[in-house]
Amino acid sequence: MGKIAAVVLAAGQGKRMNSKIQKQYLLVQGRPLITYALDAFEQSAVDTIILVVGQGEVPYCQKEIVDAYGYQKVSAVVEGGKERYHSVYEGLKQLENCEIVLIHDGARPFVNQTIIHDAIEGAEEYEACVIGMPVKDTIKIADSQGFAAQTPDRSLLWQIQTPQAFSYPLIRRAYDKLFEAEEHQIGVTDDAMVVESMTSHHVKLIRGDYHNIKVTTPEDIVVAEAFLSHI
Ligand code: C5P
Repeated sequence: MGKIAAVVLAAGQGKRMNSKIQKQYLLVQGRPLITYALDAFEQSAVDTIILVVGQGEVPYCQKEIVDAYGYQKVSAVVEGGKERYHSVYEGLKQLENCEIVLIHDGARPFVNQTIIHDAIEGAEEYEACVIGMPVKDTIKIADSQGFAAQTPDRSLLWQIQTPQAFSYPLIRRAYDKLFEAEEHQIGVTDDAMVVESMTSHHVKLIRGDYHNIKVTTPEDIVVAEAFLSHI
């Protein structure tokens, strides 16, 4: 097993896309969405890629994505789980003797070599880092009645993207602990949260790119097509 691994997540159901075809397989400029992120990791310093897909999709993905596009670094295609963090854990369990792992949403096609390089460097230096960008909008915290309760200082707020990159022993320990304590699992939406809540380790924020969007709703496909036609 190589020294640097990537877990690429494509096991979400993509309900917010309102599409019969799962979003990771939607064609964007003639190619399945998931292939954009896989291309980036294939061309990077990452040694091995674990692709996590939906229930019953392993044979389809192996044939139509991994074999069809000739990915040499994809060492396993595995089934994910109900929530994102279940899928991450399935991916992490495939890895051994790995020093650094990058965890990436397959629905973020615009991850690039600079971002991957900076994430690896961040993990080497800080053991835990996430790619993100300062927010552009004012953010408010709502109360239970839908009124503005607080307005946090915008200059301190970041929107978090992926990849999130960690020392493998650290993230593995944090996830093992999460799964030992089921009551802690509510509301886990990213990997940094698992490190923050299960260990005392600090997670470094590293500047990425506003292009590194997550394709979630139908209008994001339009944005993705527009970005691609300007690259
Ligand atoms: O649901 P969300 O938009 O946060 O999903 C982010 C990424 O996690 C997507 O690439 C999606 O395919 C993946 N995911 C997963 N398993 C789940 C839910 C989401 O691999 N159960």
